[in-house]
Parts: sequence; C-alpha cells; structure tokens
Amino acid sequence: MSSMDLHRIFDLQYQASRAQVDVPLLVRRERLLRLQKMLDENGPALAAAVQADFGMRSARVTELLDLLLLRQQLKHTLRNLARWSGRQRVRTPLMLQPGKAWIERQPLGVVGIISPWNYPVQLALAPAITALAAGNRVMLKPSELTPHTSSQLASLVSQFFAPEEFCVIEGDVGVATQFSGLQFDHLLFTGSTSVGRRVAQAAAAHLTPTTLELGGKSPCIVAADCNLREVALKIAHGKLVNAGQTCIAPDFVLLPRGREAEFAEAFMEAVRKLYPRISGNPDYTSILTKRHLARLKQMLRQAQGLGAQVHWMQEGAAAQPDEGAETQAMAWGDSVERQMAPALVFGATGEMQLMQEEIFGPILPVISYERMDDVIKAINASPRPLALYWFGQDERVRDAVLSRTVSGGVCVNDTLLHVAHENLPFGGVGESGWGAYHAEQGFLRFTHQKAVFVQSRWSATSLMYPPYGARFDRM
Ligand code: NAD
Repeated sequence: MSSMDLHRIFDLQYQASRAQVDVPLLVRRERLLRLQKMLDENGPALAAAVQADFGMRSARVTELLDLLLLRQQLKHTLRNLARWSGRQRVRTPLMLQPGKAWIERQPLGVVGIISPWNYPVQLALAPAITALAAGNRVMLKPSELTPHTSSQLASLVSQFFAPEEFCVIEGDVGVATQFSGLQFDHLLFTGSTSVGRRVAQAAAAHLTPTTLELGGKSPCIVAADCNLREVALKIAHGKLVNAGQTCIAPDFVLLPRGREAEFAEAFMEAVRKLYPRISGNPDYTSILTKRHLARLKQMLRQAQGLGAQVHWMQEGAAAQPDEGAETQAMAWGDSVERQMAPALVFGATGEMQLMQEEIFGPILPVISYERMDDVIKAINASPRPLALYWFGQDERVRDAVLSRTVSGGVCVNDTLLHVAHENLPFGGVGESGWGAYHAEQGFLRFTHQKAVFVQSRWSATSLMYPPYGARFDRM
C-alpha cells in the first residue's frame, strides 16, 4: 500500500468520524453482528491462512486459540453494549443541587491497531471488536510475518465493511512505521517492548493516546506444598500452547531447591501426555520462521556454553543444539523441522540471553530458590511482567506474593486462563505495557468520558459570584 493510499483511507475515516460523532447503539450493534457473521462464515478460511503462515498449526488450534475467544468476546460485548454505552448518571453534591450531572460516553473517532503474528486473527480482531463497540472507526495493520492471514483479513473485512468503517492495511515495517505516525484518536499496539517504545514515540508527536500490549518475562512460582505432577501438567500446557509463542506463556519457573529432578520427570511426563509426538503433530505449532528458530537455538547454545544443563523433552532431540543452529535452520525447508522440541534448562543465570530476553518459544528455564522472600525480591528487581503464575495451597503465602509484586495479571494454580475471563481487563504494567482492552475497561479505553453538568434555573451557586465582601469571611 502506498503512503498516499494510507493517508487517503485515514482521511476518509477521519472525516466520517467527524461527520457522525454520535454513533447510535443500533449502528454499533449491527457492525458487531457483521463481524460475527464474517467469523461464522469464514472460520475455516482463516484457519487455513494461519496454517499456511505457520506451516504446522492445525485448524483445531486456531479454532481454539484465535476464533473461540473472539466469538466469546463478541457475545459478551453484544450482551453488555447497552449498559456500557450512553449516559452514566452520577450523584450531585449538595452545593450544586438541584443541578444534574452525568458522564456521556462518546466514541473517540479513529482508532489505529497494530497487531503481531503469534495469534494473528485473535490479536488483530479482539481490539477491533472493542473499538467498534465503542463507536469508533478502525484501521488495522496486521503483521507482515503472517502474510496469508493478513491478506485473508484484508479481503474479508473489505467484503463486510465500508473502508470508512473498518479497514485493514497490509504492508511491511515501512508501512507500519508510517501507520504509527498517523494522527489517530487512539493507537493500540500489540508486540514487542522495543517496537512498542518506537510506536509510543511516534504517537506522542500528535499527542495520540496509546494502549501498549507488550511482552516480557512472566514468572511461574511453584510453592513448596505443590503436587509437582499436577503443576507440571498445567505449566507444560501454558508453555507449549502455540509452542511457547504466547505473550503470557510462563517464561521461567521458580522452584523450591532440591525438587529439580522430580520436576524434570513430571514435566517430561506432562509433555508426553499432551504431545505424544512433536514431529508432524498438527497440535504442536511450528516456530514461525527459520530466523526465529535459529534465535531460540542460539539462546540454548549460549546457555550451555555458560554452564547451563539442557534437558530435551523428546527423545532424539538432544543432538539439536550442538549442530550449527544457524546453518541447520537455514537448511530446514519445511514446517515439520521448525517444530522445536520442548527443553528445560537448569542452572540458568542472569548473564544468559534466555534470562535477559522474553523467550517466546518452547524453552523453559527452571530457577531454584530457598525462600519465597527471595522470589519476591527477584521479581521486584526485574521489569514488571505481563503475567505472574503462582502455584500453591497456602493462601497466606499466595496473598503475600500477590500484594508484594506488580504484574499485568495473575493466574493462581493454572496458567493463561485469566486472559479468557470475560470480566477481567487484560494488559501489562511498566515495560509489559499499559492500558487494557478486554471487558468494560477495554470499552472505556476507546471511549471519551465527557463530564456534563446541567445547571437548574433555581440555584444557590450564584451566591459564590463576586463581589465577595464579608460573606466569605465567616466560611
Ligand atoms: P513486533 O514488535 O516485532 O511487531 C508487532 C507489529 O509491529 C507488527 O505488525 C509489525 O509490522 C509492527 N512494527 C514493526 N516495526 C514497527 C515500527 N517501527 N513502527 C510501528 N510498527 C512496527 O512483535 P512480534 O514479533 O510480531 O510479536 C511478538 C511480541 O509481541 C512478543 O514480545 C510478545 O510478547 C508480544 N505480544 C504481546 C501481547 C500482549 O497482549 N501483551 C500479545 C501477543 C504478543
């Protein structure tokens, strides 16, 4: 897409949003119903596009991880739309009575959305649902790394929506950079922390408010009173869904010292249960590209070089990191070879890349701890994570961890599920992002809350007019 086209579509949406500031409930509802129809009629086509981008990622995986969440969100939004929209009355203090007041919830105008590749349908459309519900126009720039899905989304959205309502802009990083420089009324970005920083800077030039949904290292704390077999299964599920390419995947495990062998065995058993085989298993997603795979293998090589022990969770996988990862990955042409076996890493330290960057793949460092207090200190000494997982039975310990740490969200005794709860906001804090777009909080993210006070004809506020004289001396 040329720069001229990009600006033309933005102008179209901008003019439309100024010409029709009030977007009635009926119009919003009808737009959501159209989106619902688009998904209902095109689920298989979207899943096929995602599969073409990843290579190995079955339609069932996309149905569960991308489409199901969107369908739930649409139903929840349609159910609550009337309550979330319109006037919200507020009580008026005695001094201003008998005047009346309310908050008018209005659309912001044009909302820009930049989405990543890992859940290419869900993370593109979920913010769009909320922004449309709030009465906005939406321009969406999906990832260039999932070209089949992006092109499928562009084609479907253009069949179901006029360009001044909702439009998909395809293109590379150059287009994304221009996109983030448009004078949106709100810009939502989902992606890496480093690109998020650039997006926030571009938006600041126009004072465009942003929502940043970023990544980070989400810790998974296992307390001493856990049954490790149960816990390992839940951690393995949260880590290996989409092969670890999930923003809220447990990034590393904090385990009581002395239980490493027990955990490794339980994790191996869990992996075998969830994925009886890795190679050729359509439930186990490929790493998106050879470049991403080479990065993961390089991380492992570096960790091994610095003294960490790598435990591959599938037979035959042990040889993988020792081969020249870059060359090897380049030679691997197809997606089966991008299905990277899960690996546990013991003895990881802060000097290793895998403890400095978000891993975003099926590698799970396990760090041993002595006291929960040390765990809390370590978490508070690191950038604030997007998610925190806590496993244990003692609620006092749980509450101490929850109240003494800050993270975007928390899931206790499981992983990932807080994101699927329709009444919880979802977002990061600090370096894992800001703002949330799920639930009513998301609706408010894309809404201007206008304060309205209506004076009554008979009011005592005129007593406050000058000249003040001696009247105020007694106050
Ligand atoms: P990325 O930051 O590389 O790219 C995301 C999007 O930004 C893409 O559409 C890309 O075209 C665009 N982009 C790239 N450079 C840009 C620039 N200079 N200006 C404007 N836009 C630009 O991220 P990714 O690799 O696609 O996704 C992985 C990252 O996303 C991980 O860090 C992950 O944790 C994070 N993530 C966060 C969430 C969340 O909800 N918090 C969800 C999924 C992924």
